[in-house]
Amino acid sequence: MHSLLNQTRVEFLRGDITRQDTEAIVNAANSSLLGGGGVDGAIHRAGGPRILEECKKIRSQHGGCPTGDAVITTGGNLPARYVIHTVGPVWHGGSQNEAMLLRAAYLNSLGLAQENGIISIAFPSISTGAYCYPVKQAAAIAVAAVLEFARPHNQPGLIRFVLFNDRDLAVYQAAWEEAVSSL
Ligand code: ADP
Repeated sequence: MHSLLNQTRVEFLRGDITRQDTEAIVNAANSSLLGGGGVDGAIHRAGGPRILEECKKIRSQHGGCPTGDAVITTGGNLPARYVIHTVGPVWHGGSQNEAMLLRAAYLNSLGLAQENGIISIAFPSISTGAYCYPVKQAAAIAVAAVLEFARPHNQPGLIRFVLFNDRDLAVYQAAWEEAVSSL
């Protein structure tokens, strides 16, 4: 499914984030930037050691990446030229600023893409795996952040959500339709 938002095309598909040919893909990283499971493990496996070397360099200069923030490396052997590593919140029940931090993870990733002149970007479902964020709530925040960013900025040209299974895909598509219909 796709829809157009001014100059930005927003797509939803089921797939593997490591195989996307967008200019950047987003990693659901952790604050250490040293890799982990899920999306993070898949990106480092597919992208090769160069990405981790760059992450270690960022870590030595800035001490990792706080929750809600984002950093950028090259894409190593991936089809994508860049990886934007962002850190979503761990779900603690919703009372520990999780929604604001998840929104920040999306907005800071999009901001970093813009600073680097990136024209297309693919996001996984940040925080909804090991970090246990309920998918429906996370999807509503993700699509709202994309609308909030893309409407005034009119970029990037393509924002793609890559969901790992059909259930998550349906949840994100429904969240998008609801957000757009209430504009
Ligand atoms: P977090 O720690 O932020 O929760 P995870 O990587 O554990 O991140 O999971 C985030 C989401 O990404 C989950 O829905 C998971 O099923 C999904 N996922 C795992 N591997 C991939 C992949 N290769 N491509 C796209 N999505 C993936």
